Amino acid sequence: MAEQARREHHVVVVGAGVGGLVAALLLACRGLRVTLVEAQEHPGGKLRQLLVDGAAIDAGPTVFTMRWVFDEIFDAAGSTLDAELALHPLLVLARHAWRGHDARLDLHADANDSADAIAAFAGPDEGRRYLAFCAEAREVYRRLEGPHIRSARPSLPQMIADLGPGGLKRLAGLGPLATLWKSLGRHFRDPRLRQLFARYATYCGASPWAAPATLMLVAHVEQQGVWSVGGGMHALAGALAGLAARRGVVQRFGTRCERLLVQGGRIAGVQLTGGERLAADAVVFNGDVAALAAGLLGEDARPAAPAAAGARSLSAITWALHAATEGFPLERHNVFFDDDYKSEFDDIFRRRRLPRQGTVYVCAQDRGGEARGGQAPRGRERLLALVNAPAEGDRRSFADEETEACERRALALLADCGLRLAPKPRQVQRCTPADFERLFPASGGALYGPATHGWMALFKRAASASRLPGLYLAGGSVHPGPGVPMAAMSGRLAAETLLAHLDSTSRSRRVVIAGGTSTPSPTRAASG
Ligand SMILES: Cc1cc2nc3c(=O)[nH]c(=O)nc-3n(C[C@H](O)[C@H](O)[C@H](O)COP(=O)(O)OP(=O)(O)OC[C@H]3O[C@@H](n4cnc5c(N)ncnc54)[C@H](O)[C@@H]3O)c2cc1C
Repeated sequence: MAEQARREHHVVVVGAGVGGLVAALLLACRGLRVTLVEAQEHPGGKLRQLLVDGAAIDAGPTVFTMRWVFDEIFDAAGSTLDAELALHPLLVLARHAWRGHDARLDLHADANDSADAIAAFAGPDEGRRYLAFCAEAREVYRRLEGPHIRSARPSLPQMIADLGPGGLKRLAGLGPLATLWKSLGRHFRDPRLRQLFARYATYCGASPWAAPATLMLVAHVEQQGVWSVGGGMHALAGALAGLAARRGVVQRFGTRCERLLVQGGRIAGVQLTGGERLAADAVVFNGDVAALAAGLLGEDARPAAPAAAGARSLSAITWALHAATEGFPLERHNVFFDDDYKSEFDDIFRRRRLPRQGTVYVCAQDRGGEARGGQAPRGRERLLALVNAPAEGDRRSFADEETEACERRALALLADCGLRLAPKPRQVQRCTPADFERLFPASGGALYGPATHGWMALFKRAASASRLPGLYLAGGSVHPGPGVPMAAMSGRLAAETLLAHLDSTSRSRRVVIAGGTSTPSPTRAASG
């Protein structure tokens, strides 16, 4: 398509979450005129930071993995990840503790170090089994990177064709049709190890008892590296927004899109808070796709909603803390397990209540990576604590007594593992599923879009192109999976799909125009 025609093509991206930022950046780099509108006052969406007791605390995602996704995006935008962001590899991936046990288990960046640690923790046979598990996770990853990670919406026949009979047989032999929990029973004898690796399902907001065994590929993703980000994970959003601005994206924060405008059966623009209208040839929507079905973007946009993709993924109760800790040598990422793991997921997905035995995750943001050369901070430190919760934020808000009881249980579990924490009220900011729902409308507070439950989940996700011509979808609710990298990938897929449509339309338009007909530009149509 000619340069000039591209510059005239106006795309509005609604939402500056990681998916929206990536789509806006890549479209601008390919010469399109791009306006990004974001309801909040800053970019990032769930990649957010809170100011608590004077300290800036990452209160969204804390784990940076799959750096190749961002290497490719920054390369495509004419820069490099290293030029835009300071990444520090973690040598210890995570520290794990169990209620009432002194023994702790660290997973390391080097799989052999992890195998040694597992052997010391649970015996040499388990150490050997861990290495076999890593080999299997690597194989699953290798087979599924194409259809699971790089593809907008794989189809079963296409996947069978891509894998070929050999690949299919091999994958079937790994037992991916089983649940992650069942498959882990084949690998490990020690129940604590099964519990630890089952947690990978929650990286996609799923229950280990419903997630397919293929999610063991997360083990391989971690083996490829976990980084801390200088300035916090939130700096990733700042880097993408900064580069997008340099590539010409007009960014409007504190601006909500109230309605998608439709004319002649295709998208024609957006209506913003206060009634202002922006004409557009195409729109990329980065909010939760459930907002379309709920009518939050207007009645005309409702039919564009993809078919519901099943259960929502996990929500959470989080506590951003600026407090002193005692009694436990925290690493950057720490996981504290309770006794009855299954009850956590029965509570959340079946009973729809806060877990009575919830695992507690603590990110100690002043430790690991570049932070203080690995030394423990003195005095107060920046922490994010998280307990999984049902994504019911639009249906009910948990009563204060319920969330306070959950908080007391979490603190008691930490204390049983040796970690003492007694923050003053001004040192804590709590966020519940209802708070996440307010920030991310129609999500119910789900942090990862639809839950990856069952083997067929892969084929049910929304595609980058919606049912409404000119409307594209990007974000975690479109490309569910392990969070930030998948949301970024969906932004890239939305941009590529839009550009491919544009190229094919301009080719057919050239043919039509040569025959003497033309269509009015949607840009002009909506502005009238
Ligand atoms: C507490 C927490 C912990 C997490 N942990 C991890 C982790 O460790 N690792 C990981 O990879 N992932 C993690 N995740 C998930 C990860 O943050 C998300 O998958 C990812 O950031 C989602 O990006 P997105 O593109 O879907 O956009 P979102 O972050 O959902 O942002 C969408 C944006 O669209 C805006 N918007 C919506 N509707 C409108 C409208 N009508 N008009 C204007 N703007 C609108 C919203 O304001 C928002 O800014 C976590 C999330 C949370 C909250």
